[in-house]
Amino acid sequence: MIGVNKLYPPLCKYHSCLAVADYEFTDAETVKTEQGDGLVKEEVKTITIGHACFNHVEEVNKMLKEIYYGDKKSDSNK
Ligand SMILES: [Zn+2]
Repeated sequence: MIGVNKLYPPLCKYHSCLAVADYEFTDAETVKTEQGDGLVKEEVKTITIGHACFNHVEEVNKMLKEIYYGDKKSDSNK
């Protein structure tokens, strides 16, 4: 049987731009999984955190930095 799936192209995250993205932003995430023998395995996984069209690469980059690293927050020195 042939399955038909609708594809959702990644869209630019900049406000209401919604253009099909030309760039994707990734971040590295450490994933810890406990093995059966009690050992913890650490893996670094690359995750996609956002997309941007060529007009908004800088803006979205800044936006994501603020979300993920709290650039604007003054209480970031925990
Ligand atoms: Zn855009």
